Amino acid sequence: MKFSQYFIPTLKEVPSDSVIPSHILMVRSGMIRLLTAGVYSYLPLGLRVFKKIEKVVREEMDAIGANEFLLPGLSPNELWAETGRLEAYGDDIFRIKNRELVLAPTHEEVFTSIAKPNLISYKNLPQIWYQIQTKFRNEPRPRGGVLRGRQFTMKDAYSFDATWEGLDSSYQKHAEAYRNIFTRCGLKFFTVTAFSGAMGGSDSEEFMVEADSGEDTVILSIDGSYASNLEVAASYIKKVERRNSDLPYEVFPTPNIKSIDELASFLAITDKSRLAKSRLFVVPSKTEGSKDCYVLTLVCGDDEVNETKLMNIYAGIRPGRPEELMEIAGADAGSIGPVNFRNKDVFIIADKRLEEADELVSGACKNDHHIKNIDLKRDVPGIRYEDIRIVKEGELSIDKKSALRMTKAIEVGHIFKLGTKYTEALNAKYLDENGKENVIIMGSYGIGIERIAASFIEQNHDNDGIIWDGEISPFDIHLISINKKDDIVKTAAEKLYDELNVKGFEVLFDDRDDISPGIKFKDADLIGIPLQLVVSEKNMKNDEIEVKTRRTGIRDKVKSTDIFNRLPNYIKK
Ligand code: ATP
Ligand code: MG
Repeated sequence: MKFSQYFIPTLKEVPSDSVIPSHILMVRSGMIRLLTAGVYSYLPLGLRVFKKIEKVVREEMDAIGANEFLLPGLSPNELWAETGRLEAYGDDIFRIKNRELVLAPTHEEVFTSIAKPNLISYKNLPQIWYQIQTKFRNEPRPRGGVLRGRQFTMKDAYSFDATWEGLDSSYQKHAEAYRNIFTRCGLKFFTVTAFSGAMGGSDSEEFMVEADSGEDTVILSIDGSYASNLEVAASYIKKVERRNSDLPYEVFPTPNIKSIDELASFLAITDKSRLAKSRLFVVPSKTEGSKDCYVLTLVCGDDEVNETKLMNIYAGIRPGRPEELMEIAGADAGSIGPVNFRNKDVFIIADKRLEEADELVSGACKNDHHIKNIDLKRDVPGIRYEDIRIVKEGELSIDKKSALRMTKAIEVGHIFKLGTKYTEALNAKYLDENGKENVIIMGSYGIGIERIAASFIEQNHDNDGIIWDGEISPFDIHLISINKKDDIVKTAAEKLYDELNVKGFEVLFDDRDDISPGIKFKDADLIGIPLQLVVSEKNMKNDEIEVKTRRTGIRDKVKSTDIFNRLPNYIKK
C-alpha cells in the first residue's frame, strides 16, 4: 500500500475529547474518527486492524465447529417482549420511533428464534452458531473511543445443547478458542470468574486485559494462581478472636460521633476490627401488599461491605436511604447497631471475620449512643455469617500462598453458561431419544472486536505512538523512502517495495514526495508498524538499507543485497 494513495490522516495534536492512550493514538494515527458521542467511523488503517482481528476470531471459531451467521441489526419489539428484555433493557436499548423495532444490543432472542423451529430433535444438537456483527447499545457513558462505544462490532456465539454435560463441553470449547484468540492477538490476559446474577446464569468467565484505563477492578495473586473481579473476590483473613469474657453489654453516650474513625479516636483505640460497622439495607417486596424486608450488615470497622456479594445473597437489595433509617432503625446512620433492633423484620448478617466475636462496639439504635461488650453469639440471636467484605490489596489469597494485588482491567471477552433462560421464554424445545420434549440448553459467548485493538494499544505503546506486533499489526513493514520527486532513491525504494510484495510481506510504503524525513519518521513511529526500512541517498551510497525495530528503537544497517536473507531475523513470515 502506498502512503500517497492511502488515506491516513495522522494528527500531531492530542484530540481534545480523548484521555486514554489507545483512544488518543487511534485518532492520531488515523484509524478512527468520532462521528457523535460513542459512535466512530473506521478509517482504512483502523478497519484493516479490525479485519485482522476478525480473521483470527473467525479461524478459531471455525476450528471448534461453529457456523457463521449474519443476523440483522433491526429486530422486532415483540420478540424482545417475549423474553422480558424490551422492558429490562430500559434506556440502554435503541428504539426506532416510527416502527415497532429496536436496534439489537445482543442476539440471544434472534438466534433462539431460529433455533426453535429448526433444532427440534436431539439429532439436531449440539450446535454452535456465531456471527461478527454490529451491535447497538445506548451506553450511558461511552468512553475511551471504541473501548466503550454505542455502536461496535461483536463476535457473539451461542451454543445449543441437549444436556448440561453438553453445555459444559461447548463452554470448554469456547474457553479454549478464546485463549487461542487472545494469545494470537498478542494480548496479555487472564480470566476471572464473573458475577452473572443479573443475567440469571451459572458459570461465567471474563477474559481481562490489565490496563490502567480499565473500568473493572480486579484482584490478582502475585503468584498468578488467583484472579477475580473485586466484586466477588475473597481472601484469607484472620477472624476477630473470641475472648469469652462474658461482660454484660453497656450503652454509653457518644456525642456527635458519626464515623468509625471518630469512634476509634473517642475510645482511644487503634485496632478498629472490634468496632462493628452496621449498615441498613432494604429488600423491596416483590408483590404488592407485602412488606419490604430489612437487612442489617455488620463488618469490622476497618472493612467495607461488598454490595455485589450482598446482592448475591439477597436479590434486589439496596442501601437504606438516610431519610428511612430513623423510622426503620430508630437512629441515623452513625448510630445503628444489631442489639435491640426495634424492627423485628430485620435479618442480621455479619461478615465471617466477626463469626461469634465478642467485646464488640456498635451503634445502639439511638442517636449519639453506642453499645460496648456486644457478644454476637449471646446478644444477636438468628445472626447469619457470610463473606460480605471487600477484599483489600496486600491480603493473602485463600490458600495463604501468595499476597493479593489490586489492578484495573478491561473485559475483552465473556463466556457464559446461559442455561434455559431464553429457550424457556421462547419455548424452544427438542425431542429426546424417548420422544420426550425438553428445553434446549444454551451458552453465550461474546468478544469485542474493536475493544481488542484498543486493549492491545493500551498494552503496547510509548510516547511516540503505537507498537504493533504479530497477527493484528496492520502491516509487516513500513518502508520509508527519503526521496524527492522521481529521484533515484524513489526508484530504488519502488523496486524494493515490489520485491517485498512478491515475497508476501504486507508493506506500507511512504512514497510521498517532498515530505521531510522528520515527518515521515514521526508518522512511522505513530502508526507503529513493527519494522521500518529506510531507503535514503546516504544509505544508497553505502549500498545499505536502514532497519529500525519499532519496539526497541534499535537501528541496523543491512547491505541491500543481504536484506532478504536478514529479514527473517526481524519478522516471521
Ligand atoms: P461491559 O461490562 O464492558 O459493558 P458487557 O458485559 O456488557 O461488557 P457483553 O454483553 O458480555 O459485555 O459483550 C461481550 C463483549 O463485547 C465484551 O466482553 C466486550 O469485549 C464487548 N463490548 C461490550 N460492550 C461494548 C461497548 N459498548 N463497546 C465496545 N465493546 C463492547
Ligand atoms: Mg455492558
